[in-house]
Amino acid sequence: MPVVDYKKYCQMIDNAKKNKFAFAGINVVSESSSNAVLQGFAEAKADGLIQVSTGGGEFASGQGVKSAALGAISIARHVHFIADQYDINVALHTDHCQANKVDSFLRPLLDESRKRVAAGEKPLFNSHMFDGSALPLKENMDIAVELLKECHELGIILEVEAGVVGGEEDGVDNEHAPAEKLYTTPEDMLYVYERLSEVKGARYMFAATFGNVHGVYKPGNVKLKPIILKQGQDALVAKYGEGASFDLVFHGGSGSTLAEIRETLDYGVIKMNVDTDTQYAFTRPIVEHMMKNYDGVLKVDGDVGNKKVYDPRSYLKKAETGMKERTIVAIKDLRSDGQTIG
Ligand SMILES: [Zn+2]
Repeated sequence: MPVVDYKKYCQMIDNAKKNKFAFAGINVVSESSSNAVLQGFAEAKADGLIQVSTGGGEFASGQGVKSAALGAISIARHVHFIADQYDINVALHTDHCQANKVDSFLRPLLDESRKRVAAGEKPLFNSHMFDGSALPLKENMDIAVELLKECHELGIILEVEAGVVGGEEDGVDNEHAPAEKLYTTPEDMLYVYERLSEVKGARYMFAATFGNVHGVYKPGNVKLKPIILKQGQDALVAKYGEGASFDLVFHGGSGSTLAEIRETLDYGVIKMNVDTDTQYAFTRPIVEHMMKNYDGVLKVDGDVGNKKVYDPRSYLKKAETGMKERTIVAIKDLRSDGQTIG
């Protein structure tokens, strides 16, 4: 099916919220990894999100260009083109964009969507994340409110973050973030709600942090407290009534236990980002291919090697299969298998 429009995206999110499941938001860096994720969604009959980070976009544009925005546009166009061939709904999203990258990444992407919307088409991306978590909360929300206005006009959802996701991803190192920043307080959550409510009728997603980290850590090193999310939702309902609720995003899902993941679904998480686990799943089959075909991928002692095994397609197909399979695992963990709104 075509990449969703705003209305369908809202329906997807409402469906997840109502049925207590979440979408897999899988980061991609190429046509190859996008295809792997699309195939995973289709095989699991699950709606889902394909996401591009600034680093992923930069990579996709090529090392001679190194433009995060151009690479993200290129991947998004590919997904618009190919998603049609599959019988599930997919939304396009961009991951962490820090304040200092708004002008070089988010704005060009919004401009691209603006051109498309003016021509009667859908926006290029369905949602974007603005990550102002390194800023004081007021400053973070000042920028978020402005971006939310622009997104809303274009039929795009904005994702925001308060608190800090620990660990390291895409070259941004929060390894040494102060411990209290890893858990968003109910007060901060209320503040986010109040500020973003300034943009009437606009929809947003919220990455509140509850001890989550990017990357994979050995068991015991991560102290997830999903209850933090419930406390925030409860504070919201207590102040603004039953209708008030956040659409929450779980960052740093890789390496979490199934019980922890499932608990967050009860508290309003509608998307979990997956990157590290699918990165590994893409690479693992390549390792096996190279080890098994050592004397074919190399031209040893003047020999000619074996074209069948050094043709990049031979191992990239295996990599895609690995990533597809891991995507399906994430989908099942999040209970979104079989969840497509048609
Ligand atoms: Zn993240």
